[in-house]
Amino acid sequence: MSERVSRRAFGACLALLAFAAPASAPRLPELPSPDLPPALRGLWREGVLVARGARSVVVGHHTAPGSLDDLARRADVAGLRVAAVLGGPVRPLVVVPGSTEEAAELAGVARLDGLAAVADGGRVIVVPEFFAMLNPTGKDVVLAHELTHVAAGTDHLPVWLYEGFADYVGYRDAGIPVRTAAAELAAEVRAGRLPSELPGPAAFAADGRDPERLARAYQEAWLACRFLADRFGEGTLVGLYRAAQAVGVDRALHSRGLSTAALTARWRDYVRAQLA
Ligand SMILES: [Zn+2]
Repeated sequence: MSERVSRRAFGACLALLAFAAPASAPRLPELPSPDLPPALRGLWREGVLVARGARSVVVGHHTAPGSLDDLARRADVAGLRVAAVLGGPVRPLVVVPGSTEEAAELAGVARLDGLAAVADGGRVIVVPEFFAMLNPTGKDVVLAHELTHVAAGTDHLPVWLYEGFADYVGYRDAGIPVRTAAAELAAEVRAGRLPSELPGPAAFAADGRDPERLARAYQEAWLACRFLADRFGEGTLVGLYRAAQAVGVDRALHSRGLSTAALTARWRDYVRAQLA
């Protein structure tokens, strides 16, 4: 991946947040490390828990809060949602560390504060404290989002396209009204402010300093991809994504009769129409 860690933050996305439920103790038996797939051995010195879904494997630290088999069921659903867009089969591997610090260590980054999960190579790493704060719908959206990064890759793409595409897949079957899922952006539009350009790295780098800007960056990117699917069909969106990985986004847009400027103008109209 072009960025080592792709991430989905929900600091200000109210649609997906719920008050944290008390963590329940793991209910699965602890398995000795030799029962793990070879790639996961040595992940933690102490024992780990393994939950298997129909298509997914969830590996959790023995102190990981929450139910790993619930996560395996959700990972199965996320895998089906991703496969419905990208083609399948998609076989999720989800890792649940014992803490945010351990998640950051696994992902090879300094901090993961405020992130619910990250895509790292071929796996999704859950950030336990923040993932636990999401409501059930939010958990499904986050898992499908990160799994999209894992399955589709992000190399050679502008951030609006790979984050917007991951949210397109994440929200596609979530049943959340667009004004709810894009609440922060909707408030801006109602106040008469439309984004002038597709969100770039600076907007996504806002993190803890400006969580509302970060939330809007995801929403803007999501609606750009949602516009492409609504207007030209989902197959065109997926084809554009694949083509942009191969030849760059400008040539990929051009071969579909678009340019970044034309897409931007039509995306702004779409944002206004969807959220005003
Ligand atoms: Zn992402």
